[in-house]
Amino acid sequence: MPACCATSIVPKTLRNRVSLENELERFMSNRSFSPAVEYRLSLFDPAAHLFEVTLTILKAPAHMASSGLELTLPAWIPGSYMIREFSRHLDAIEARCDGRPIHLTKTDKHSWRTAACVGKLSIRYRVYAWDLSVRTAHFDDSHAFFNGSSVFLRVTELAGQACAVVIEAPSHLPGDAVLRRARVATALPRHGAKRLGFGRYGASSYDELIDHPVEVGDFSLFTFKACGVTHQVVVSGQHDCDGKRLVADLAPICEAQIRLFEPRKPLPPFGEYWFLTQVVGDGYGGLEHRASTALICSRNDLPFAGMKESSAGYRRFLGLASHEYFHSWHVKRIKPAAFVPYDLSRENYSRLLWVFEGFTSYYDDLMLVRSAVITGDEYLAALGGTISSVMRSPGRLRQSVAESSFEAWTKYYRQDEQSPNSIISYYTKGALVALAIDLTLREQTAGRRSLDDVMRLLWQRLGRDFDSRPRGLAEDEFADYVQEASGLDLRTSLRRWTEGTRDIALAEMLQPFGVDVEFAAADDQPWLGARLVQRAGELSLATVFSGGPAHRAGLSAADVLIAVDSLKVTESSLKAMLARRKAGDTLRVHAFRRDQLREFAVRLAPAPATEAKLTKRAKLTKPEKSALQGWLGKSCL
Ligand code: ZN
Repeated sequence: MPACCATSIVPKTLRNRVSLENELERFMSNRSFSPAVEYRLSLFDPAAHLFEVTLTILKAPAHMASSGLELTLPAWIPGSYMIREFSRHLDAIEARCDGRPIHLTKTDKHSWRTAACVGKLSIRYRVYAWDLSVRTAHFDDSHAFFNGSSVFLRVTELAGQACAVVIEAPSHLPGDAVLRRARVATALPRHGAKRLGFGRYGASSYDELIDHPVEVGDFSLFTFKACGVTHQVVVSGQHDCDGKRLVADLAPICEAQIRLFEPRKPLPPFGEYWFLTQVVGDGYGGLEHRASTALICSRNDLPFAGMKESSAGYRRFLGLASHEYFHSWHVKRIKPAAFVPYDLSRENYSRLLWVFEGFTSYYDDLMLVRSAVITGDEYLAALGGTISSVMRSPGRLRQSVAESSFEAWTKYYRQDEQSPNSIISYYTKGALVALAIDLTLREQTAGRRSLDDVMRLLWQRLGRDFDSRPRGLAEDEFADYVQEASGLDLRTSLRRWTEGTRDIALAEMLQPFGVDVEFAAADDQPWLGARLVQRAGELSLATVFSGGPAHRAGLSAADVLIAVDSLKVTESSLKAMLARRKAGDTLRVHAFRRDQLREFAVRLAPAPATEAKLTKRAKLTKPEKSALQGWLGKSCL
């Protein structure tokens, strides 16, 4: 559906009301905006990748005169559950009271305390920004990108109060510098800055401040409306993106999500939304925020003028954008109780990331098929990919999704050669739990109830009024919501699916929807039981799967393969050799472990049937057709 059609769904009166409400909100927020802290961010030295930040206290708490103030930088960024110690990149920090240097004491790895100050307190520091990821900050002569959690020190005593941010125009750079013609893209509310301009922005609290990433550069900007609300797509970096095609596909996806949560009054929980997209040669990732997302994608994944079919890479990009957009409701406003409020100084533990990341992973592609951006067959192929990815992980038999959620900080985010054997992703397995809940509810209520109803109930109870009544989902509460939304008690099944490690019987669940599932091996070669990596002319073992032939023969991760049956081995020669052998044959393998040559006898096994193929039956009965359309939307057939 083109963007213009998406817009026309919203009655004109409603559109006018939305824009009036936005204007009024902007006017009121400007009038009442009285920040306690001001940050001035200067694009100090692009060649050295250094920002300079000056923080000034505008409303001094009484005790500043006796005990100074505490300043601290987050150890992690919400949405990415790993301790990253952003303070590693902060230096040259100094404090001044009425212009005179005062003492600053470092109290722990990411905190400082100033000496007492009677007068105007300011703190100046530099931040090294050279990580091209959605989680931190990156700055050179072509652009600047930052998350507030990497650059803005939090004043503990004033964190709940409004703060201003002045993004300074780089007038100190030469006139022909790219940054001199840069624009500013961010969902940060403007408090003086012109649209896309340098100048003064602001936030109602530190928590809000760090939830609006900022891109500064000479980017492309594409705009569309979904349910009458403006959405901006910023594309930075060298690209040939067909913006018209991109917004024509994004608009119906966004509309479908807004209508999922607010079917009666289709409005999103923000006045405007920004997709901040960084294009690179090879990359993929996204991070959600309350009114924007930071995305990183491969150049070839974006659509180009004249592109006819959607490429797999483009569908993956749309899935990523859909995923991060869905988080605007689910995890940015419906949150685990463990994140209310966030403690940014340490790990925040929850056994529920399967609800937040898993369900979002389920809905990201589902929204593409429901909005007819992909076909039903393309959706079933993507779902087959998710099932296969879980089946390829022996760790699914060792770790539950609830454990995976709790241990995200030390396991999912810090993977090594053993991870496939010991962990399961709460994204992929969580998406399968969402699928199981959705199919079960649909089947047992004859299509009257579904996971959509559970999502809406969560939104009404926890999300819609989160700003005025912040309350999160308690660790043991989810089944209650399922029961209230559907009338069904799924406690026993939910416990089995989320606390247990047995595979979910999805093939049976998909039957009433007219979908058959077949499992096959990835290829018809016998199995070595290891994942190989060819690097710098060496073929080594990246992972040895527990219980597989390589493991039983004594091979280990990092062993470098030298020869198989006396012949020098490369990735392609090994593949050719395996194609000529069968399960039960034994290979004589020579490998280096560090600098020692070792010999192993590897008895090949049949390859496990991990690859799921989902097929819509050629002839559907009436109930199957109606169940399938209820699930995937009218255009799936
Ligand atoms: Zn996510």
